[in-house]
Amino acid sequence: MKNHFDVIIVGAGPAGVSAAICCLNEGLDTVLIDSKQKEMIGDKVCGEAISKETSHQVSDLLKIQPPFGEEVNTNVKELVLQTVINQDHIVLPAIGYMVNRHKYGQRLLKNATDKGIELLDRTKAIRPIIQNGKISGVVIKPWHKEERELYAKIVIDCSGIRAKIRTSIDDSVEPLLYTKLTPRDFAACYREIIELEEEHNLDGKIVLKYEKDIPEPGYIWFFADGEKKLNCGTGFIKDGKNKDKSVKEVYFSAMEKYYQREKYIVLDGRGGSVPIQPPLWNAVAPGLLIAGDAAFHADPLTAEGHGPALLAGCYAGQVAKDAIDKNRYSTEELWGYNRLIFSNFGSEHARSRILAMVLEKLGASNLEFLLKRKVIKQSDLTSEGILKKNSICSLINRAVRCMPRIHLLILIKRTIDISKNLAQLCGNYPETPDKYVEWVKSVEKLYSRLN
Ligand SMILES: Cc1cc2nc3c(=O)[nH]c(=O)nc-3n(C[C@H](O)[C@H](O)[C@H](O)COP(=O)(O)OP(=O)(O)OC[C@H]3O[C@@H](n4cnc5c(N)ncnc54)[C@H](O)[C@@H]3O)c2cc1C
Repeated sequence: MKNHFDVIIVGAGPAGVSAAICCLNEGLDTVLIDSKQKEMIGDKVCGEAISKETSHQVSDLLKIQPPFGEEVNTNVKELVLQTVINQDHIVLPAIGYMVNRHKYGQRLLKNATDKGIELLDRTKAIRPIIQNGKISGVVIKPWHKEERELYAKIVIDCSGIRAKIRTSIDDSVEPLLYTKLTPRDFAACYREIIELEEEHNLDGKIVLKYEKDIPEPGYIWFFADGEKKLNCGTGFIKDGKNKDKSVKEVYFSAMEKYYQREKYIVLDGRGGSVPIQPPLWNAVAPGLLIAGDAAFHADPLTAEGHGPALLAGCYAGQVAKDAIDKNRYSTEELWGYNRLIFSNFGSEHARSRILAMVLEKLGASNLEFLLKRKVIKQSDLTSEGILKKNSICSLINRAVRCMPRIHLLILIKRTIDISKNLAQLCGNYPETPDKYVEWVKSVEKLYSRLN
């Protein structure tokens, strides 16, 4: 059996299939590995909301159809941030789809198989093969068979939150790569798809409800998935005082404030994990590119990671093609991938992390206060809003409304400053790895201003 390829892709989730289609479009000899059985690929615990803009952008890049037909359950129009007091809320435009992840994932896989991908399903990536300081392949373990070695010019790690390849690399192979996964890097989640007896009146909405009894990031979500259908769930960082808390129990006790158990049926209920850190500041190593959850590409505030994973997979495929054309695989040669990420969703996600940290710091009761007094407005939370210059008048106006909790306004002002500086830094992502350490120091200094 063949064991040498141009590209090995580990994981056939959105990042992996997108990378695969891109590599095939570029004429690269590519193998796609997934531990799941072929028919189960794409089936994943998820909120299932995807941005229209990103899914269409990826479809254009890959020359495939955007989500259509039975892949789309319903349309999304807005994201609502809310506390227990329903009338005090922030609405942000969020045009997209609620997709059936399994059907959409299967179709993307079919796009890849139709183009001739070599798919090894029910096959686990066990560890990377490292030769002369370069990731040169992967040891795989097919279902009920012996381990064997596959070699490639480039390996793309799309193995999701566990990041099997990234986290199995010794720091010495690439000192600029974060090779760990700690409990503070992701939120453990529990999610249900439910069917209510009556219509929920949340048509077109994806709602994040901040609750003081839910540990950070502190919300339960309700995503409208049809007139009576909802995708709901919660998740939090299982560390420190919340280490032994059950996500399922927290979810059920939050849920019963909104819907009585006997008034709905559960169509699906499962656990999962989602990254909550900003994108890896560097997602390359010699011979390796990392895309999707494996590189923390989900939005740290909303957990939106499906579209970013598709986009990152596509960029990884493009960078792999360039490297293979030049036959050069060093970190420096692959560095352009980081610049692509940070000139796209990377900068926004880095700022989302700031916003998530502030919301956690505020807690549900201060957030309630700020929304009620209209100290925070919808326009503040859009990416343009957070970068907007605040006039003295508007600051005084807010200060008056914020009395007596003036320290909250100081926190908001600091957040706006940090976000502006972070956007600037991301816009100036280092052109080469030699400026990286200094750049990361500046970024981390900004984050530390929130502590
Ligand atoms: C509860 C929850 C709600 C979410 N809600 C949303 C939402 O509403 N909108 C949104 O956009 N995103 C949401 N996300 C995030 C989104 O699901 C992920 O960001 C996205 O799936 C990431 O895609 P990926 O390809 O990187 O990883 P995955 O989709 O996790 O795919 C990884 C693939 O790698 C395979 N794999 C793993 N390890 C190995 C191995 N060792 N060998 C071989 N194969 C391996 C897995 O079987 C899997 O098929 C949510 C996530 C969770 C957990």
